[in-house]
Amino acid sequence: MRIRRNEGYKFNVIVSWQEQVKAVQQGKLSYVDALLQALSGVNLVHYRQRNSIKEKLDTRGSEMFEDALRDLFEGNEDSVAFEEIVSAIGGNYDVLGFLFFLKDPNQYMPIRSDMFEERLRLLGIDAHLSHNCTWKSYQQYNGWIKEIYQYLQKYMNSSVQLIDAHSFLWVVPGLSKYIDSDLQMVEHNKFGKGIVVGFDRDLIKVKFGKETRSFEKQDCFDRGILRLIPAKISIYDEDENEIIVEPEREPEETVIPEPKKQIQRLDKDTIEVNDELDNQLIHDLDMKTDDVQESDSSIASYMGIIKPRPEPVERKGRSVYSRNPMVAGKALTLARHKCEISVDHPTFIRRNNGKPYTEPHHLVPMAYQDLFEVSLDREENIVSLCSNCHNEIHYGKDALKLVEALYTARKDLLKSVGIDITLSELQQMYC
Ligand SMILES: [Zn+2]
Ligand SMILES: [Zn+2]
Repeated sequence: MRIRRNEGYKFNVIVSWQEQVKAVQQGKLSYVDALLQALSGVNLVHYRQRNSIKEKLDTRGSEMFEDALRDLFEGNEDSVAFEEIVSAIGGNYDVLGFLFFLKDPNQYMPIRSDMFEERLRLLGIDAHLSHNCTWKSYQQYNGWIKEIYQYLQKYMNSSVQLIDAHSFLWVVPGLSKYIDSDLQMVEHNKFGKGIVVGFDRDLIKVKFGKETRSFEKQDCFDRGILRLIPAKISIYDEDENEIIVEPEREPEETVIPEPKKQIQRLDKDTIEVNDELDNQLIHDLDMKTDDVQESDSSIASYMGIIKPRPEPVERKGRSVYSRNPMVAGKALTLARHKCEISVDHPTFIRRNNGKPYTEPHHLVPMAYQDLFEVSLDREENIVSLCSNCHNEIHYGKDALKLVEALYTARKDLLKSVGIDITLSELQQMYC
């Protein structure tokens, strides 16, 4: 029992079929030819069934089948079209299921009658599908898939589609050797609850909500990445050998609380080197007349672009992070060159570009960059301060009040660039 391809291909089948139907309606193709093309290589229909339809069309001719297909795709009565197709090509359940799936994938599912009979029975459903290609049986089958679908939806509490229930049915035997009742769910401590929708040679595919993720089998089992429910499953390798897997951990609490940041006092040299870089930034900004002016017209709002922490550079034996004057310039522009403690604070006009003079200050100090996975050198973390406030926040007795005011104004912007910090953590950085 293996699914080698990503389940997404089923959607591609539908999309290319819809293109084929257009060609048919423009008279470029017959429905029979379009179907034969759609059938080639698709694993939703057993190859024997695929071959048998070709043989039948050779012996009986395709006219009757063409009419039946037209009724299916252009008429309304699905049950009648079903009977017509059976009359034309015989009770080829796989092809029938495939055709109805092409017609309406939100309502009808493909079928592999022999396989799915066995799979449904594993789930406790008394299914009789082989040699029972009737409209009634097919409706019943779709009803079961819908039941599985509803169960998955309820269990996962997120977006599952009908086709996922179908995918799920494919993989059931690989999982359910050791259980009778419960459907197969996995729980991942990062992505939440998911359903197994496919296996590949080395991959297990799990759907979490709308997203399907692949995990290496070795990772899943060796490192216990997936918490499997129930605790034991079996899968088959390429040579049909059974591999029984027992994950190490029991399913339980999966939320791992974010560790509190350890804000340690910086040593004198680190503070000194960082102060130098801050002053260098103010100087660079004064020199970069053109860039600052250019940025005035090119940036209208905070972009919320998360950047990863850059590589540190070495300076006086300390590893530090450089500040980009372009980013600081944009931050000042976004603050309209006013002090963010109060827009009324007096300032003066810059000689180089005619703008009011304010200084950039990294609210979460660059000296603490190591504590964050994301870059702190973002517009969202750079406030514009008048010279007086900038000195006060660095050297003032009441600096923490300024920090609190700025944090309150900026916390959502900080979050938008992945800078996750509480007020008390931030205040510790200023003590
Ligand atoms: Zn500063
Ligand atoms: Zn000020």
